[in-house]
Order: sequence, then structure tokens, then C-alpha cells
Amino acid sequence: MMIRHHPNDATLLTYASGGLSTALSTIVATHLGACPSCRASAARAEQIGGALLSGVEPVDVATSVLDRIFDRIDAGEPEQEPTTAPRFGHQGLPAPLGSLLPEDMDSLRWWPVGPGIRQARLGEGEAAVRLLRIAPGRAVPHHSHGGHEMTMIVSGSYTDEIGRFLPGDVADLDPDVAHQPVSDAATDCICVIATDAPLEFTGWVPRLMQSLVRI
Ligand SMILES: [Zn+2]
Repeated sequence: MMIRHHPNDATLLTYASGGLSTALSTIVATHLGACPSCRASAARAEQIGGALLSGVEPVDVATSVLDRIFDRIDAGEPEQEPTTAPRFGHQGLPAPLGSLLPEDMDSLRWWPVGPGIRQARLGEGEAAVRLLRIAPGRAVPHHSHGGHEMTMIVSGSYTDEIGRFLPGDVADLDPDVAHQPVSDAATDCICVIATDAPLEFTGWVPRLMQSLVRI
């Protein structure tokens, strides 16, 4: 798995501090299983977070705490690999997502949400994530986000304004980033999406669809 797109530093730090929602944590934890670089960053963030909490000096949060923390991470010890290799589940993805996904993706209940686009739901309650299945050459309607959205590619690939995303790659998008992913491989692009707020489509047709299908 050749990974080029990663969760951003703030997301990794929030994950390491236990502050990320269950659905977003599922994506980060799965990416960490496939990405030694982010795994090492998250491990160091946990160590530094613990050191900050137990430190005698109060931290000035008015300045860029994140910048200083990651400066310390960058200046720290070399990457540490966990002693046990992550277990890979279905679709070639590590746990937890690899354990949640079925062996046969066609066994999921997919329903259409647009031309060449189908959606399925995985998990329950606040742990639920959505799977989007985009036929080759099809595009997801242009949209931005009302909150934090993370997408990870399960199979196939897509290209948007940010770049090309392959299995294991994560798109970690701020609310002000609008994009339009286009499925660009010979097979369906299946990706998993976690949000902490509904997507905000910029056209009236997708908005109408959104109100009907609740994505
Ligand atoms: Zn990574």
C-alpha cells in the first residue's frame, strides 16, 4: 500500500488525546495500521501529551501550541515501530475498518444517491460510517463540509482538486475546502467517509438529493 495522503497534524494530535469522534477515530486508526509514518507521529504525540499533562510548567495556549508540540515531535527520537505488526482484514485494510468490512462488498445493502453513485452504511449510532461506491468516470457532486470530514479509499481511486487518492490514502478536509472527486480507475472507487456534520452540497439538485437520501 503506497500512501501519499495523510490525516493532518491536528487530527493526529486530537486522535492521540482521545478527542476524536468514534467514526473519525475508526478512519484514523485504520490509516495508522497501514502508515508507519503516522503511527510514529501519533505515538510521539501521545508521549508528549502525557508529558504536557504531567509537566510542572503551565502551557501558554495563546500561542501556537500545535506548532510547538510538533516542533518537539520533529526534534524527537527516531520513529518507533510497534512490536506487533497490524493485522490486515478484508479489502486489504487493517483493523478496525478491515474487520468491519465484509469479504464481498456486494453483500452490503447499497442504494443509489446519484448517477453512478451508491452508498452503504456500516456500523451503528455515532460509530456509523458511510461507504460511497463511485462507478468509473463518475463524479461526486461538488460539495464542501459543515464540519470535519475524513475519507479513506478502500479500493479503486479518485482524483479531485487536491490530487489522486489510492487505497489507504486519507482526505482530511477542513470545512472551507470544496471538492469534486472523480472515480478514475477501471473499477468502482469505494471509499469510507466519516463526518461530524452533514455534507453541504453547492448545487440545488444535490441539495435536494441530500434532503431525500440524508447524506
Ligand atoms: Zn499516514
